[in-house]
Amino acid sequence: MTQFNTPATEGGALVLFSGGQDSTTCLAWALKRFANVETVGFRYGQRHAVEMDCRTPIRTALTSVSLGADHIVDLTTAIGGLGQTAMTADIAIEMGESGLPNTFVPGRNLLFLTCAAAIAYRRGLKRIVTGVCETDYSGYPDCRDDTIKAMQLALNLGMERRFVLETPLMWLDKAATWAMAADLGGAALVDVIRERTHTCYLGDRTHRHPWGYGCGTCPACQLRAQGWVRWTTASGFTEIAR
Ligand code: ZN
Repeated sequence: MTQFNTPATEGGALVLFSGGQDSTTCLAWALKRFANVETVGFRYGQRHAVEMDCRTPIRTALTSVSLGADHIVDLTTAIGGLGQTAMTADIAIEMGESGLPNTFVPGRNLLFLTCAAAIAYRRGLKRIVTGVCETDYSGYPDCRDDTIKAMQLALNLGMERRFVLETPLMWLDKAATWAMAADLGGAALVDVIRERTHTCYLGDRTHRHPWGYGCGTCPACQLRAQGWVRWTTASGFTEIAR
């Protein structure tokens, strides 16, 4: 029972780690900074298990003395029961009347952060790291800086802790996210992200592009691909240079 009362420490961080490009970059970022890093992943009835399957190989590739336990939380019933979206059901991806794509799962990130904070509380971890971004994104309101700041306040009041919600990608576009990976881990980390992470909404791992695997046409693939082109053009990163 003592583990439930462990005070948060400066040295620890919990990374929301989905197996995608952004959360992998955040994991590498956290491993550079914090003495003890744990990860959490969520099952929520995703249409494709591909991203979750990527998590363990990525953790193995990023092996570090700082890398601690991995936690899996199953929210399939909770989120699946709230209604269908293109992220959780086999329906076409399209823009809704609100201007948001129907891949938006209302409340998802809020629920993820609440669960993450509960784990961080139990594990004595002060920092919660999430790859949300409002610079080059799909418009999800729960990815915005104001939402994260409000969640930090609510979690700290509701759990009587001083968690810090870290969002290293918040103000970066996708080109800058690739650049951050190169800064953190050089070509080796860029390769891990290209080869092992998964972003495509359609779960496609049969089509290989310079930026990794994916259908190449869904909104997530387009953001990733456009960022890759901008970054490689600006940085001069090429296969030959490596
Ligand atoms: Zn795709």
